[in-house]
Amino acid sequence: MKVLKDRILKDGKVFPGNVLKVDSFLNHQMDIELLRQIGEEFRNRYGDCGVTKVLTIEASGIGIACFVAQSFGVPMLFAKKNKTKNIASDVYTAKVESYTHGTTYDIIVSKEFLNKDDKVLVIDDFLAKGQALLGLINIVESAGAELVGTGIVIEKGFQDGGKLLRESGVRVESLAIVESMDDNGNIIFRN
Ligand code: 5GP
Repeated sequence: MKVLKDRILKDGKVFPGNVLKVDSFLNHQMDIELLRQIGEEFRNRYGDCGVTKVLTIEASGIGIACFVAQSFGVPMLFAKKNKTKNIASDVYTAKVESYTHGTTYDIIVSKEFLNKDDKVLVIDDFLAKGQALLGLINIVESAGAELVGTGIVIEKGFQDGGKLLRESGVRVESLAIVESMDDNGNIIFRN
């Protein structure tokens, strides 16, 4: 998606630890027109798949997933990061290792909002090692729902999450795949 790649080149900042910051348009301040176009782009790619629900993870996936869900005309559902020790029985749960914080946490989704009749499109802002997506896919499987595929705004292609997921048969659609980036701020895209 050219408009997204141009924006990453203009405003993205590379931080130590292979972290790309896009706080000025995606992860803190949000460019609503760009988000609308991102929603449309995922609709172009998955429009004929019968999606009934868009699933993401709090917090940074929510804004993006709202626009995707609106373009499909379906609800958006986000997995919450569980903050209590006890996990209730009326939720699906999965463990996720955080890329940016280096910790492991539980995510939960109420059983009320996801079931075997759903066809789910999983959305997230970044794909690095794939842990966040694997957790969300785990939840889709627990619900007996169908995973239509995943939609990622920025995939870091030099990390192994995308390869892992594609090799396991998951459809991964990434709007920008970063092939390499360095501390001088040079960012190169795949294709
Ligand atoms: P993964 O689970 O694929 O290893 O990492 C994906 C999650 O970590 C995303 O939900 C995203 O919030 C965060 N993340 C991973 N890499 C980056 C990055 O380079 N920049 C930002 N802003 N977030 C990242």
